[in-house]
Amino acid sequence: MLYADYNSTSPVLPEVLEAMLPYLTEEFGNPANERTSLGKKAKEAVELARKKVADLVNALPEEVVFVSGGTESCFSAILGSFAGRSERRQFICSAVEHSAVLEAFSFLSSLDSKTEILRIPVDRNSKLDLEKLKTSVSENTNLVSVMMANNETGVLFPIKEIAKIAHSKNVLLHTDAVQAVGKIKIDFKDLGVDLLSLSGHKLGAPKGVGALVIKKELIEKNFWKPPMVGGGQEEGRRGGTLAVAQIVALGCAAEIKKKELSQGSAEKLQALRDEFEKLLLEKVSGVTINCSENMRLPNTSNFLVEDVIGLELMEELSKQNIFVSTGSACSTGKLEPSHVLSALGLDTVSNLSSIRVSLGSKTTIEEVRRLAKRISSVVSGLRDSSEMEFEKLFNSKG
Ligand code: PLP
Repeated sequence: MLYADYNSTSPVLPEVLEAMLPYLTEEFGNPANERTSLGKKAKEAVELARKKVADLVNALPEEVVFVSGGTESCFSAILGSFAGRSERRQFICSAVEHSAVLEAFSFLSSLDSKTEILRIPVDRNSKLDLEKLKTSVSENTNLVSVMMANNETGVLFPIKEIAKIAHSKNVLLHTDAVQAVGKIKIDFKDLGVDLLSLSGHKLGAPKGVGALVIKKELIEKNFWKPPMVGGGQEEGRRGGTLAVAQIVALGCAAEIKKKELSQGSAEKLQALRDEFEKLLLEKVSGVTINCSENMRLPNTSNFLVEDVIGLELMEELSKQNIFVSTGSACSTGKLEPSHVLSALGLDTVSNLSSIRVSLGSKTTIEEVRRLAKRISSVVSGLRDSSEMEFEKLFNSKG
């Protein structure tokens, strides 16, 4: 198998599995029962994991709230900001946010018709219109939500600069850092972000665990209130019995990623990605790398292949046990243009002809060479066989 779809999900690291297993078996205590030895051990394991997650992004342990994943984290950031300062009714995000953010805003609008959601456009290279952001934030703005890195194109957004713009009007900044955490170094404090979302399954922990990092002062000022209440867990910031094993796994994965980053994992990934793109451009005609002129995650390559349907290329590769992706993972399987690529201004044909390769810590140079070669031969086959079909498809779609 050749796996090049790490932005979609990643395998659980062996050390992570080993670390979490005892908490599914003999150490099954509930951390809320701290006064029993079983509960105390679970509580200690959770607090150690909290410290490791905080360390990965340079936040304080008490700023980390464990949740079920990236989607819940984004939802909680947005709905919690609304609950904290409901008199501020404007929310701003980029046009290329993940559906976890876009749908949370849609839900918010359905709750309160006076809420205004403004999407800031991006250009062909996914550069955010910062001037538009500056003129749009006001005393009525509650929250700006801009992702740290885009899941499809890998483009990195200037979060520090965006934080300054938001703070100039006392507006909060949430960043969906689900794709960035573990792949690049992140400093929550230095960036000046108020809320940050991360997800375990993107960094070698299992699916179903993540965190929302909330700046301490936000809670003190009541600028954020928990939208998920219940038994008072997580200092009242997220109700629900803690998923101890998954949290231990997230902590272990965070520790591993921190170490890997300090040993140059980002630079190594970038060298592999650059080699892949070089080989691809050499071997396959009609390839354009999307957003290559912008800062990108080191592991991500999104490119369009003329006269090929991205989904077909993905399916053909998967028959050979090679895994890549089109659009975001959530929309995979549907022949619908990606909203991210549409926001860049790609026409429908180029949009549907695009594909994403995302590398991970286990990717080798041999795999990268094999990937470029296989893509080249599959593209040739598809171009020969589906010329008519392609024409028909796009002509009928207009
Ligand atoms: N945000 C981004 C940028 C993502 O890529 C994803 C998942 O693909 C999510 C949020 C949702 O995270 P989760 O799958 O943990 O709910």
